[in-house]
Amino acid sequence: MTAGKKGGAWFGTDVAPGSSASLSMIVSEGYSGANVVTPVYVWRGVKDGPTVAITAAVHGDEINGTGAIRNIIRQKPFEVVAGTLVLVPVVNLLGFERHSRYLPDRRDLNRSFPGSSSGSLASRMAKSFFDQVIRRSDYCIDLHTAAIRRTNFPNVRADMKDERVAEFARAFGAGLLVDGKGPKGSLRSSACKIGCPTILLEAGEPWKVEPGVVEYAERGIRNCLRHLGMVEGKIVEPAARIEIKTTKWVRAMQGGFLEFHISPGDVVHKDQPIATNTDLIGDEQNIIFAPKSGIVLGMTTLPSVAPGDPICHLAYPTKAAIKQYERAVGKMGKSSLHERVRDDLSRSMKVVESDAEQE
Ligand SMILES: [Zn+2]
Repeated sequence: MTAGKKGGAWFGTDVAPGSSASLSMIVSEGYSGANVVTPVYVWRGVKDGPTVAITAAVHGDEINGTGAIRNIIRQKPFEVVAGTLVLVPVVNLLGFERHSRYLPDRRDLNRSFPGSSSGSLASRMAKSFFDQVIRRSDYCIDLHTAAIRRTNFPNVRADMKDERVAEFARAFGAGLLVDGKGPKGSLRSSACKIGCPTILLEAGEPWKVEPGVVEYAERGIRNCLRHLGMVEGKIVEPAARIEIKTTKWVRAMQGGFLEFHISPGDVVHKDQPIATNTDLIGDEQNIIFAPKSGIVLGMTTLPSVAPGDPICHLAYPTKAAIKQYERAVGKMGKSSLHERVRDDLSRSMKVVESDAEQE
């Protein structure tokens, strides 16, 4: 196991082995000229080990991860026995202050890494964070949600062609793993490039802290830390672990008002009705069917759509993998985390059986 990158001093404070500290990191200056300061919690085990950063709200409105990190700090659901855990509840503080994905300069912080000290506000903030946290970390887990008006069933995104990243991603214990490097300038792709294997959790909606998502994130983080020997105990394996290379959005053909027939996390079969598009009186205009069999990764939470609006994000693993997933999910009880997350995410949508399905 690597010994972690460079000692116990974080943001000017020495954190001794076996202790933890609430610290402040300066990431920029605001319009007032005052420092923009974000809190960071550093938790060290007694023994040497890797340094792992857990980051949330790189998109300032995606705060499910903030809730998960807050829970870890307050409830201490596990004990760090080795290495250093660096918990950053909000990376994009200026976006967070505005309940916005973006920075005040309208740039996306998650397209600005590793950043530059002579670039835009976004680029400078990215560099500051990257240098102070990511360059000192051996691994990182970045917590995200869907974009506004959408929700995602929890899935881990990782570059599965990179063996160290793939191993870390599998350790998380997510049922759905989406392969990909991530966009240019993202925290994930930039961190992986400098040898800090980084994976990303996509789960739930923006502007919310959803109980099932918090539990899912916490379980995955604990699994990853167990994998690295930082936390004692065995990894909780998922009932099925499906690796996905292809995903595609199903879009509305015409404007109208949707009635959904599926929930996030469901398996859908080719030609199964996904939603019925009606006019505002409720008369049916058309039914949207699944173009192929797949798994529902994400959905719109806004039932009124214009032509071309995304309705449902489908993952297309192999047929055998879909079967395996369907079998595993079929055996899960109502109290399983999978079912509770599915219920949480679809609670604010009207999901009804399709007439077409019953025929
Ligand atoms: Zn995001």
